[in-house]
Amino acid sequence: MYMKVFIETYGCQMNFADSDEMFLHLSARGAVRTDTLEDADAVLINTCTVRDHAEHRALSFLGRLMKWKRQNPSRIIIFTGCAAQRLGERLKKRYPFLNILCGAKDIEQFSQRLDQSGLFNAPGTPAPASSGLSAYATIMRGCDFACTYCIVPSVRGPVKCLPAQTILADVSAKAARGAKEITLLGQTVNAYRDGNVTFADLLNRVSDIPGVERVRFTSPHPIYFTPDFLNAVKHNPKIARHAHIPVQSGSSEVLKAMKRGYTRELFLEKIDALKACGFSVSTDIIVGFPTETEQDFEQTLSLVDRAGFMTAYCFKYSPRQGTPAAQMKLLSQNILEKRLAILLNKVRGLADASYQAQIGTVQEVLMETPHKGRSSSNYWVDFKESYPVGSVVKTTIEKAAGTLLYARETHGK
Ligand code: SF4
Repeated sequence: MYMKVFIETYGCQMNFADSDEMFLHLSARGAVRTDTLEDADAVLINTCTVRDHAEHRALSFLGRLMKWKRQNPSRIIIFTGCAAQRLGERLKKRYPFLNILCGAKDIEQFSQRLDQSGLFNAPGTPAPASSGLSAYATIMRGCDFACTYCIVPSVRGPVKCLPAQTILADVSAKAARGAKEITLLGQTVNAYRDGNVTFADLLNRVSDIPGVERVRFTSPHPIYFTPDFLNAVKHNPKIARHAHIPVQSGSSEVLKAMKRGYTRELFLEKIDALKACGFSVSTDIIVGFPTETEQDFEQTLSLVDRAGFMTAYCFKYSPRQGTPAAQMKLLSQNILEKRLAILLNKVRGLADASYQAQIGTVQEVLMETPHKGRSSSNYWVDFKESYPVGSVVKTTIEKAAGTLLYARETHGK
């Protein structure tokens, strides 16, 4: 009889990749996944603490599990990730029914935590699960920056890169199970280095693995788009032409107060270099950082005009306890709301304009259904003809409507 595990993940793609990895350790101990909480013998909650809201949702879910556990006290509750790291042993006092706690910095010891709990069988070989067309591979953990609004460095610690051999073995296994598109994950993913192996080398080696058709990465930091990286891109069509690069502000003064490590000018220089290689770029922007003046905000608006982002996700600044910026005097909610509305109004037209700009271009599309696939630069493309799922089709874009492009003619691979 298998143990059934219900998994609830909050936060970023790295957390989803961590949940998959933790499930492998559970499946090696005879567990299978269930989507029904009532059927489950164990629950794994993998948490995020970057925003207050995500942490509250995870804790409120944990609170609700008290009743679930009371119905059957042999049920197991595992709480992991960034909120587990930030709140630590305090959680066990507040939620005594919690069985296993494993913070983000200790995720590599997850397997030992399971064994130490005495609640699971001895590990065997996990059943190989299908990867699907796309798979994630975590290549580093932690962050060496100290952005003044961000809680990540204190909960995840400094950068630790996984050995290149470990990553290549992980990707090979995923490709053997059917993955065609691999997304490399890390908090500052393009800062990756293992001895002499740079991020550019790693991209090339991953794309050489049989079966891999495309390599994506997230989240990059602007300063690590080096000539070495651009050179790899120019010679390797399997490196996807899309990057999500959080800019956060268009004002060099605000970027300095945020300790982002670049100026407005440097950011634009990097974007121009990427666009020259065919990249589309999306971004995140924070409005109303405590030091942001009207002039700073105007700089953000003008950066949006200048950069030509494909999309921008905009957020009102909200302080995170434990970060340096949380000590600063907040701007009024009125100002935050007014600036957010102006910015949202500006970014609303970005997607339309960027889809229209694709008309007439030639794109390589990885088919995700018989009639639809995603281009290297991350646009959905619709075909009249059907193609095998997982194949790469080269096509000219005929028209754009909403958030969809339509293929005109195909050119084979
Ligand atoms: S680069 Fe800055 S925002 Fe990103 S995780 Fe590191 S400290 Fe946080």
